[in-house]
Amino acid sequence: MNSLPKIKSLISIDSFLHDRQHMLDVLVENIDGLIYCTLYDDYWTMIFASVGCKELTGYNREDLIFNQLISYEEITFEADRQMVRDKINHAVELGERFEIEYRIRRADGVVIWVSERGNPIFDEHGEVQAIEGIIQNITTRKHIEQSLREAEGRYRSIFENAIEGIFQSTRSGLYLMVNPALARMYGYSSPQELMGVLNNINEQLYVDKARRAEFVQAIENSHNVQNFESLVYKKDGSTIWISENARAVTDEAGNLLYYEGTVEDITSRKSYEVQLEYQATHDTLTGLPNRCMLNDRLLQCINFATRYKNKMAVAFLDLDQFKLINDSMGHEVGDQLLLIMSQRLSACVREVDTVVRIGGDEFVILISNIDSIHDIMSSMKRILESVSEPCEIHGLNYLVTCSIGISLYPDDGADPTVLLKNADSAMYEAKKAGRNNYQVYTQALNEALAERVMLEYKLRQALENEEFILHYQPKVDFSTGLICGAEALIRWQPQGEAIIEPMRFIEIAEETGLIEKIGEWVLLNACKKAKLLKDKTGTSIPIAVNVSARQFKQARLPHIVKNILAETGLPAECLELEITESTLIDDAPKFIDTLHVLKTLGVKLAIDDFGTGYSNLAYLKDFPIDRLKIDKAFVMNLENDPTNLAILKAVVVLAHSLDKKVVAEGVETQYQHDFLKSIVCDEMQGHFFSRPLPEHEFETLIFKQFQS
Ligand code: C2E
Ligand code: CA
Ligand code: CA
Repeated sequence: MNSLPKIKSLISIDSFLHDRQHMLDVLVENIDGLIYCTLYDDYWTMIFASVGCKELTGYNREDLIFNQLISYEEITFEADRQMVRDKINHAVELGERFEIEYRIRRADGVVIWVSERGNPIFDEHGEVQAIEGIIQNITTRKHIEQSLREAEGRYRSIFENAIEGIFQSTRSGLYLMVNPALARMYGYSSPQELMGVLNNINEQLYVDKARRAEFVQAIENSHNVQNFESLVYKKDGSTIWISENARAVTDEAGNLLYYEGTVEDITSRKSYEVQLEYQATHDTLTGLPNRCMLNDRLLQCINFATRYKNKMAVAFLDLDQFKLINDSMGHEVGDQLLLIMSQRLSACVREVDTVVRIGGDEFVILISNIDSIHDIMSSMKRILESVSEPCEIHGLNYLVTCSIGISLYPDDGADPTVLLKNADSAMYEAKKAGRNNYQVYTQALNEALAERVMLEYKLRQALENEEFILHYQPKVDFSTGLICGAEALIRWQPQGEAIIEPMRFIEIAEETGLIEKIGEWVLLNACKKAKLLKDKTGTSIPIAVNVSARQFKQARLPHIVKNILAETGLPAECLELEITESTLIDDAPKFIDTLHVLKTLGVKLAIDDFGTGYSNLAYLKDFPIDRLKIDKAFVMNLENDPTNLAILKAVVVLAHSLDKKVVAEGVETQYQHDFLKSIVCDEMQGHFFSRPLPEHEFETLIFKQFQS
């Protein structure tokens, strides 16, 4: 404050004013742009223009002053002229400064953008004298603005028109910005409405309230989240599945500004996934969980039982007559039946128990939270009763029963595989016990099964190890009392072990298919023996060979028989094939066809175990057979059961009327022998005359007959 008078005293006013003028001149000449003073006339006639004129307009300032070459009006881009004039007029009227942006055409013809700032100058009467100001080139800025505008426009368009929802939100759960797509997705009519109503994301959006915290946590951990899937509420309270991709936006110092991200409605994909998952884990026909689901559910039950220190049961259930009905009545009826049965099963157990259809007519029921096997007895009885009630389909009543096998956790196994296997074998036991019942897995059952597995294993090597032998049981002609043939009966003698009877292994051989090879071996060896005896005695001793059901159904059987006859040189009529009556159950016409084919080979045919199968005597006349072998069950009980007397008599009469011979099996006593002889039965076989004999004993017996 007190330095000013000092300066004043040093510099004279004159030189100060001169210096100031000089400074202004330097400034005017050096400043970017055109500093001007124009008349307020039709041409904007310049009376002063700074050196910058050349750079800005391309004209020398002399060209413009007093419009010597061109007026500023003419330089002004035509389309903008009126606008410029209007704005300046307006400023003049108000006596104010103005600022206008417009275009001019330079001397070289190029159009550039300029910004003009100026003000009117008035005389003492308030009349406008001139306009003075500065005009600067703003083309570059204009271009940048333009491209920014374009870019902004493009982004806005993306934002506005995107199909994906886009948002910016604060960490605390407030939307800063959302696009129309997000509003639509969440069921609001506009972004404004959404932001107005949904003002607390944490509380209002996610169905699972913890989800927002997880979202924030995920962003915090890695600055972004990807494919973050959640179930969210729409405005109307319904829900949709969304997938979010979002990131944290921070300032340069790394402080969080906001989150921004995109949202996709994945409801349809989700429901498709759910549907796929459902299809993969459920049975399409019954809607019950399927085999894929069984293991999971079973593990859950096991874990539950372990945790609560109680038991759980696995019930393996098989419908007894399903196959028959399905095959004979068609699959549509079969499906209907399965559907009804699955509903009945579900109705018999508690809500928490699981009924699984594991395929065909097999179901598994998982029963949790029990203390002992007794706890489930009543539900098993309920199931048996419910299943066996008549089942009406298309106006017909079907009767179906089921067999159930049960295993318990932890008593009968620690894991799903063992529990299921044991329940299955118990079910097998239930079938054997006559069906329509349930069996509980026992250790004895397990041992029987283990033995079976062992036998099967050994049986596979028996042929190779030559462990089979044939015994021969003579058949005797009642009329002559002489041996008229023999039946070959297989025996299995594993090395160093006792002989194993066929009853113990034929069934296994049947089930495993081993019977085909074994049967072929029997045929070959029996034929060799018959040929040998024929050669040695000079008479034919026909040998009967048992043909099992599976063997009989082999398409190659006639071919095999033919080859063996050729190979051994045995006349066909010396071979008799015994086929059990039960073989024909499945398909009688096919059965008869095969018999005819075999018959054309010249071999003899016999129906074995006659009376035990489901005999439809009407078929008998169509069978091209030579003999009926009455099952020993009828003969053995002859003394005690007089009805058998009548049956035997009838069978003999019937057989004779069809020109077939009758053989009685299992003749053990004189009484039986006498009776059969009295009703003119043709032949007999049994301990009364001889047990099945080893080869050389049998030979000796034959030779004795021929010597005597
Ligand atoms: P099957 O064909 O009914 O054979 C007759 C069975 O009755 C034989 O039992 C025989 O030893 C027995 N038997 C004979 N006379 C009497 C008797 O007076 N009283 C009693 N209680 N039984 C008598 P085996 O040899 O144990 O054979 C049992 C079954 O095994 C046979 O029944 C047959 O179905 C089957 N089998 C035997 N050998 C073969 C074979 O080579 N192939 C096939 N596929 N099955 C065979
Ligand atoms: Ca037989
Ligand atoms: Ca028999």
